[in-house]
Amino acid sequence: MSARAGIVVTGTEVLTGRVADRNGPWLADRLRELGLDLAYNVIVADRRADIEAALSFLAARGMDLIVTSGGLGPTADDLTAEVVGAFQRRRMVLDEALEGRIAEILRSLMRRWPGADPDAVRTANRKQAVVPEGATVLEPVGTAPGLIVPPAEGRDGPTIVVLPGPPRELQAMWEAAAAGEALRAALGAATEYRQDTLRLFGIPESEIAETLRAAEAGGVALERLEITTCLRRGEVEVVTRYEPSDQAAYDALAAVVRERHPDTLFSDDGRSVDEQVAGALRERGWTIATAESCTGGLLAGRLTDLAGSSDYVLGGLVVYADDAKTALAGVPPELIERHGAVSTEVAAALADGARAALGADVGVGITGIAGPGGGTPAKPVGLVCFSVAGPGGARLTRSAQLPGGRADVRDRSTTVALHMVRRLLAGERDDGGDQ
Ligand code: ATP
Ligand code: MG
Repeated sequence: MSARAGIVVTGTEVLTGRVADRNGPWLADRLRELGLDLAYNVIVADRRADIEAALSFLAARGMDLIVTSGGLGPTADDLTAEVVGAFQRRRMVLDEALEGRIAEILRSLMRRWPGADPDAVRTANRKQAVVPEGATVLEPVGTAPGLIVPPAEGRDGPTIVVLPGPPRELQAMWEAAAAGEALRAALGAATEYRQDTLRLFGIPESEIAETLRAAEAGGVALERLEITTCLRRGEVEVVTRYEPSDQAAYDALAAVVRERHPDTLFSDDGRSVDEQVAGALRERGWTIATAESCTGGLLAGRLTDLAGSSDYVLGGLVVYADDAKTALAGVPPELIERHGAVSTEVAAALADGARAALGADVGVGITGIAGPGGGTPAKPVGLVCFSVAGPGGARLTRSAQLPGGRADVRDRSTTVALHMVRRLLAGERDDGGDQ
């Protein structure tokens, strides 16, 4: 059996959602890579009793490793080192060498804050150098050191890795900890796990459930695989975790999904549609431009999320008002008059307009009714029209009725548009011809 792990994310700002938790999900991936079985991610406020309770909860459930995030700063509400020390029944002691190293870091920071009170800085410095006796110190990335704290001699229980809250610091420190001896020693020989992801678009989750049943009936050893399916941004994601000896079972499952869903399975190597579109544009040496109405630039934003996108993204027009559609994207006013701003005809004109205005190979047009108002019986909220135009008259045009509120409709629209771009780049055309 593989070692089990739990995460304790501390921080009132994370608990309340003011700051979205980036450390729990990031650590979840790292723990999995080490072959650990992550059982819990607990988020607690910066309160001593709550942090203690979270540690007790995880220890009582047999975790071999606990990783904490946050609460290592110099202020009074930064309690984690002390709480973890007490939990592991270890005395807190001043590590003078560490105090010196932190002082060195602070000296260079102080040059940026010449007005800071040196006494306050010294006190804070000392607090951060007080660590549980016998713990391994992880060198500060900012000013706070991290810790690896095993249970006291003769006691059973999890080893606790204590990391700072700022994600950049936590990530760098975890990499250092994972490379070191102390963590390896605590984990022993963990089982290796593989994880693979299948992504499908244009299919309800229920059909995947049906496919899994069919696979099992066909003799695929599903009990050897840990499968989770979820809906994300309009796509179905099937994530499977398995031991290397069960590779054949996974391959058999993937084959069944490929066979049953040839049109909707678009990724079996972990790549997102965003990455596939980027890769295909690069491969062809093509550029792309957008003209967006109801998404207000979200597609352009998504296209430029990837580093290096300046190689193929030329730009985008945000054409919300009808006049802007005409002035910037060259949509004939008569077309809007005749078909309405939300129509496949206008979407096609927007795609052409984006291509022409920016001199791109591929143009994308999006126009729809994001809601909550503005719907009619003929054109209800959630109706969105898309068109993608490429060289030589290549084109795909669709309309879709998208579910959810305004934010869902707008976000889902970017996913639909990216899939249409992907299909166009793969040679699909409205007239059925392949290029
Ligand atoms: P500091 O010395 O900055 O106080 P710390 O180790 O005490 O470091 P926290 O006080 O818990 O860390 O967090 C500092 C900041 O880091 C938070 O205000 C927040 O912006 C960010 N942060 C902390 N935890 C998380 C998290 N789980 N996800 C995303 N950001 C986080
Ligand atoms: Mg803090």
